[in-house]
Amino acid sequence: MRQVILESPRELQVVDAIDVTPAVGELLVEVKTTAICGTDVHIYDGGTLVDYPRVLGHEVSGVVQDFSDGVTQFNLGDSVAVNPNLICGNCERCILGKENLCESGRLLGREIDGTLREFLVVPQINAFRLPPAVTFISGALIQPLSTVVHAQRLADIRSHESVAVLGQGATGLMHTQLAKLSGASPVIAVGRTPAKLELAESMGADHVVNAADVDPVYETLRLTDGQGADVVIEAIGKPETLRQAIDAVKPGGRVIAFGISPDPLLALDLYRMYMAERTLIFPRAMTRADFHRAVSLVASGKIDLGPMVSADYALEDAAAAFRFAEEDPSKVLRVALHL
Ligand SMILES: [Zn+2]
Ligand SMILES: [Zn+2]
Repeated sequence: MRQVILESPRELQVVDAIDVTPAVGELLVEVKTTAICGTDVHIYDGGTLVDYPRVLGHEVSGVVQDFSDGVTQFNLGDSVAVNPNLICGNCERCILGKENLCESGRLLGREIDGTLREFLVVPQINAFRLPPAVTFISGALIQPLSTVVHAQRLADIRSHESVAVLGQGATGLMHTQLAKLSGASPVIAVGRTPAKLELAESMGADHVVNAADVDPVYETLRLTDGQGADVVIEAIGKPETLRQAIDAVKPGGRVIAFGISPDPLLALDLYRMYMAERTLIFPRAMTRADFHRAVSLVASGKIDLGPMVSADYALEDAAAAFRFAEEDPSKVLRVALHL
């Protein structure tokens, strides 16, 4: 089978690889679509170091082509989305339902080879069947949606709470849609790219704020009667926008640090956090329950992931796809690679 390997930062090659076969309890999945996200781009450009050569990719959908003994929940030809977090299932965190924090957890495309290849072997507990109406690209984007579901679950957003989402990239737009679905009001979408803000509006944002023109903290306060939003979601991944999120949250409110920055946030005013009892939440990945909910949200048509794709490439053109993905992040939502 063909696969794409990262030989060293920025060096991608399409190569032939040995066919894979499923072991007990595993499925053989024919990969249909992989979406490239910021995590992949950081590995591609060397910002995140991995063992080379490495097959990238973790946002994936495909079709079950074979399975081994012990597989009970799937049939040949089933369309599936794959949860790319491989867990042990036996450590205390796994037992307590916090398998996103598994002591020996590994992510496809980072700690082990990922999905930019024709066939993939995964444990059946990592696969989720998709109804026929769900496209392969939406199937691939269920993984990032599941991290959004996880984050908002931790923040426990209730109806009529105000929510501001800083950043309208693919996951920011998912946050905007999901907050709306939770009954949040108003939902304030903050971004810098007019096309993405238009998309946010079409996905239900009550207000859109262009941070290139106005101060997003001032605007969030203005739109919430000077109080700040009950929940502010930072979906950009910069220390300065996390600070804006903290400044824009209501006393007693919650900030979700969703877009994680490798740089530290300096001089956080702890007394100010304490006096207004602000909560800072750092969600990580997702649990199987979150993945299951993400599948339901897409299957029922409540969340639309189709508009999140900015460009489509064939697997052979992976190098061009990565160059496009990092060229101008402000213009790109997700880049999809198809087989
Ligand atoms: Zn991702
Ligand atoms: Zn574990």
